[in-house]
Amino acid sequence: MYAPTVTETAVEPSAQGPVNLLDFDAAALIAWCESMGEKPFRARQLLRWIHQAGESEFDRMSDLAKSLRGKLAGRAEVRPPAVLQDHVSEDGTRKWLLDVGQGNAIETVYIPETSRGTLCISTQAGCAVNCRFCSTGKQGFNRNLTVAEIIGQLWWANHALGLVRDGSEKGERIISNVVMMGMGEPLLNYEPTLAALRLMLDDHAYGLSRRRVTLSTSGVVPMMDRLREDCPVALAVSLHASNDRLRDELVPLNRKYPLAELMAACQRYLERAPRDFITFEYVMLDGVNDSELNARELVELVRDVPCKLNLIPFNPFPGAGLKRSPATRIRAFAQVLIDAGIVTTTRRTRGDDIDAACGQLAGEVQDRTRLAERSALSGQRVVPLRQMTPAGELL
Ligand code: SAH
Ligand code: SF4
Repeated sequence: MYAPTVTETAVEPSAQGPVNLLDFDAAALIAWCESMGEKPFRARQLLRWIHQAGESEFDRMSDLAKSLRGKLAGRAEVRPPAVLQDHVSEDGTRKWLLDVGQGNAIETVYIPETSRGTLCISTQAGCAVNCRFCSTGKQGFNRNLTVAEIIGQLWWANHALGLVRDGSEKGERIISNVVMMGMGEPLLNYEPTLAALRLMLDDHAYGLSRRRVTLSTSGVVPMMDRLREDCPVALAVSLHASNDRLRDELVPLNRKYPLAELMAACQRYLERAPRDFITFEYVMLDGVNDSELNARELVELVRDVPCKLNLIPFNPFPGAGLKRSPATRIRAFAQVLIDAGIVTTTRRTRGDDIDAACGQLAGEVQDRTRLAERSALSGQRVVPLRQMTPAGELL
């Protein structure tokens, strides 16, 4: 069994070169402005320019004092991750492959729907949890993303999708919801994830309501408790199994935080949650977790937790060795839950043609990018990804 540790991302604003202002939440930006002799309201002005107007040029921040613009030039910058690729799916889903350095790429996906637009963002390059059915997990863990890399995905998507740039807030934001369901386990990159969440909720930045920001976790119990205290947003929990024996196999983190502990953590979370239910995600794997017995066990498991069940048809990827449950079995499984009074939805697969569906993020392209760039780094060995330990060290 392994023990994932919470690693804080090293953001070094004082390192040589300009500070990336996307790394700062409101409190950090106020502190940084104060260190330059500037008042807190300057930080709020800056936040609005950067996150609401999507501005990156200090010269265009017209209501900032000239003296401050002078100080910012050279010392600071607004730099989201660079875009490597931009795909548009036939169904309107849009996927960006973003460069986070040293051959690592992450993915951000925008999913337009009639009444809302959802952005799915990543929190780590790779993932240490290594769930059996997840292509990100199969790639191993590379590193935690910084605040700038996490919030930079929202900054970039707003920019790319055509947010007004004059700061007047006349334009409608088309990103109404954010889900942390891309690559990585957000609760194993806690501090940067928290700062990014705070920016999403901040009225001077993105001003999203807690109900419209969802964090999805594979069940890092102690960190669920911390999130409940620090910034309770809507919570999705990746369940995928109806008993410990099965979940130990599918989600190895279960060996550390088994189902009884996870259910208790969900109940504690609900005391502070913005919604009065937890969303449980359950990936439908042919012949693995999709029997009628599994459905009945699941009903018992979640009996004391107000919840919605989201069934996710498995999205295959090369070498997965697993198959999607047939539609009839998914319907029968859902019916058992519905008959037991559980609100159950089956996720529609979106963006299939551009590999933007759940679990397909940063597939082949990332592997190629990463290996090619790694090999270009002087003196560094190219190591097959499967040789990485969950903590990301090389064996
Ligand atoms: N690490 C977090 C968030 C990212 S994964 C978590 O596990 O919750 C987001 C969702 O995609 C999870 O519910 C995950 O189980 C699901 N997922 C991963 N691989 C998948 C696949 N191949 N097919 C369908 N869903 C998948
Ligand atoms: Fe990590 Fe989530 Fe994939 Fe599991 S499903 S390996 S926790 S990204």
